[in-house]
This record gives sequence, structure tokens and C-alpha cells, in this order.
Amino acid sequence: TFAPITVLEALEAISERNPELNAFASHITPAEANASESSEGPLMDWPIAVKANIATARSSVTSCASRALYAYTSPFQATVVDSLERAGAAVVGKTNMDEFGMGSKNKFSIYGSALNPHTPALVAKQDGMTELDRHTPGGSSGGSAAAVAAGMCRAALGSDTGGSVRLPAAWCGVVGFKPTFGRISRHGLVAYGSSLDTVGIMARDVADVQSVFDIVAVPDPLDMTCMTSSLRARIKALASSRPWITQAHGPNRSESAPLAEIRVGIPEEYWVNELSEPALESWRAGASRLAALGCEVVSVSLPHTPSALPAYYALAWAEASSNLARYDGIRYGRRSDIRPDTRNLQNASQKYANTRGEGFGAEVQRRILLGTYVMSSAASEHYFTPSQKIRRLIQEEFDNVFALPNALSATQPLALSASRPLGVDVLLFPTATGAAPRLSDQEDSRVANYVNDVMTVPASLAGIPAISIPAGHADGMPLGLQLAAQYGDDDLLLCVARHL
Ligand code: GLN
Repeated sequence: TFAPITVLEALEAISERNPELNAFASHITPAEANASESSEGPLMDWPIAVKANIATARSSVTSCASRALYAYTSPFQATVVDSLERAGAAVVGKTNMDEFGMGSKNKFSIYGSALNPHTPALVAKQDGMTELDRHTPGGSSGGSAAAVAAGMCRAALGSDTGGSVRLPAAWCGVVGFKPTFGRISRHGLVAYGSSLDTVGIMARDVADVQSVFDIVAVPDPLDMTCMTSSLRARIKALASSRPWITQAHGPNRSESAPLAEIRVGIPEEYWVNELSEPALESWRAGASRLAALGCEVVSVSLPHTPSALPAYYALAWAEASSNLARYDGIRYGRRSDIRPDTRNLQNASQKYANTRGEGFGAEVQRRILLGTYVMSSAASEHYFTPSQKIRRLIQEEFDNVFALPNALSATQPLALSASRPLGVDVLLFPTATGAAPRLSDQEDSRVANYVNDVMTVPASLAGIPAISIPAGHADGMPLGLQLAAQYGDDDLLLCVARHL
């Protein structure tokens, strides 16, 4: 456990370290912190950092690190931020990110890259070290991960569409949790891929993640994809109908084997060629640790895993092209100054085109174009439809390996038998194939950047909860291990993660 960080300590750390790390796009001053009265609650005096794609009404822009929204202030505040403030927390600033959440290295940002606080001190002192020699914090929630790792906040909110909370958490050596799709309200989160987007939580340990999760994982009538209280109740009933878990984890829990009766699956397909030796080593060590805590560790198969990455990108781009159509300069954000003659329609659309061409960065434009293509009538049967089918198969494969039925597909209240069914309770696999690369690595390869997400997108496609936990180092840079669980089984996941 770590000593808690207060708001004033966080602001001190920000003024000391942020000029170097560039984790915050904007932050409050100690005077502003003193002036704002905070409520009393379980998160009193918690400094919390919020990714720049989550709306905060006061004091800061919600820019999504894009030129299109660089000075945009939201007229309303995200439900998650409201909940945190009601619980006593203080938003200390908005964090750097990849533009609209699109990227894995926090490189595509109007603020420039955020940097990884773990770059070994010796290397950092060498002469002639340029920013590109530093390590990336990962992305897209790179600023949030760097802020937690450098003690500039106690917890941070990020967004995770295909890994954007888990990957930077792993590379910065902090905990990063993507809950089940729909568990946390997205009202006020700027949309990227709506069928995949989730709000995620980062902190130094699982206990702090859990404290924030308990506050923000509540129904919200303003977000129709947010789970209703009846679905939440159903999931809870289902999860607590597992006798093997309720018995082993009730009051008579064994101290020497706190995770007795938990069955952990090691998915074979995650053993990919790209996996580095240190990542493999940390995976082995994690499995042994769980076994020592009383878990039964077994091998499982998720055969469609290799198709997850291409399917994810086709779907995420398609959804992004539709979601980002709203940035036409009329209702939101920045409008082009180039003044076409607006007497005829063609010139009006030139105005939109100028606005979008100037506002979006190259990566965002590339994805909008590809996404529009993927959904065109000529291409959809080759890309969009097959990707949706793959997504369904991946969901079914996860359902097949978990002992707990999926609350969305289980139609009747389940009477689970007292004896343990086949199937696992959690899955264990690396968060990334290795540690954070330097910003200069892979400079020439776009596809190589997309490959960073190979370990994180399957859980996103299936909407299941997954968490990255710090697990070892490679050349001084942190590595992360991921645990994933059945749809809605977030509490068991956090319980296992707490011990790992
Ligand atoms: N790196 C992935 C992408 O660029 C994931 C991003 C995310 O989760 N927001 O799409």
C-alpha cells in the first residue's frame, strides 16, 4: 500500500514534474484548489486527473487533444466527474492523450507527446538526449498513466476503447482497469467507437481503483448504454450464485490460500511470436503466484484471438467515421477562417471540408477515411460484416471458457449446482508484448503501432472487464499483466487482482 496523496501534494508534484512529463494539458493552481469547497465523502481530498476527452464544466477545456476542439469548454459535466466531486474528490487537471483516443503512444496530440516517468534516470542524464529517445507512456490515456505514476494525482480517469487505459497503465507501472461495458456512465465522454468505449480507472494500487469504481459504477438515465439497476441486480445475483466462490471467499476464507477455488485460465493463443522474453517471464511468474495463492491454473483456448485486431480496427474506424462527422465547425469547436463564397451549396461544404482538414490530425483523418470506406456498400461485405461476425465469435469463445454464464445471454435465473462446472473464473495474460518503446522506435511503421493493441482488444470486443497490474520490469521499464473475467464479474476480477 502507498501513502495517500493529498490535493496540495499533487499540485506540488505537478508544478515540479509536469513541465518535463507533459502529462497535463491544463491543471488547477493551489489557490484555485483552496478556493473551491469540496464535499465530504469517501474520496475527500483525493486529487483526480481526468482525460481530456471527458467533459468537465469548470476551469478547463475538453479538447480531446485535437485542434478541432482546442478551446472547447463543455456546457455540462460528465456524470463520472459529478459523482467524483460529490464524493469529495478534486479534479486537478485534464490529461494529455492521443487525439480523440486514437493511438497507443500518446504521440498524436496537439500538446505533443507525454513522456514516461520511468525512463531510467541514467539514460535521462546522458547528453544529447532528445524527446524522441524517451519512452512513450503508452496511449491513448498516456497523460493519465504518467500522472498517476509520477504522483501528480491519486487516481485518474481514462477511456478504454481497445486498450487505452490498460496499455499505458502497464507501460507506466500502474494499475489500469477497464470495467464491463456499461458499468460506468459515458455521459460526457466524447465518443470514439460507441460500441466499445468505456471509462476506465487508473491508480497505484487495486484498492484505490476499487474506491473510485465504487463511486462511479452506478446507473445513469443520461446514458442509455449504462446498465440499469435491474441488470446490475441480476448480475449480482448470478455472480453470487457460485457456491464454490461464496464458500471459499466467505467469512471462513483460508488465510494461507486466499484465492482457493478460483480457477485461472491461461489462453494459449496469447503466446504470440511478438511476445518478448521478459513479458513471457512475467506471465509465468504471475501464474505461479496465483497458484501459490490457492488458484488452480489451467490452459484454455480462444481460437479466434488472432482475428481480433483486424476486426477491432475495422469496427473502431467505422464507428469513428460516423461519430466524428459532428465536427463540422457549426456546432462544436473550431471553424476554418478560410472564407469560401457561401452563396452556393458547394461552397458551404467547402467550409466544412476546410474546417475538418485543418482541425483533425493526420491519424484521425486516415481513420475517418478508412472507416468511411469500410462502411461503403462496395467494401462493407468484405470488412464491416465479417468483422462483426468475428466479434460475435470472440464473445462466444469467452462465454465458453468462463464458468459463470453471461448475464446477457442467460435467460433463466440460474440454479448452479453445488459442484463446480467446467470453466474458469478469470483469465491471465500479458497486457502488452513488451515494455514501453522509445518514442523514436517504429517511427516508420503504422501497422507496428496498431500491433501494440493485440493483447487488449479481445476483451474490448467482448465487452468484458479487464485490468492491468504492474508485473516486473524489462531494462528498468515496467511490464503489466492482465486479468479478464466474464461480463459483469468486475468484483471478482478486482478481488483476484488485489492479491496478484
Ligand atoms: N490504440 C487503440 C486505437 O488506437 C485503442 C485506443 C483506445 O482504447 N482509445 O484505437
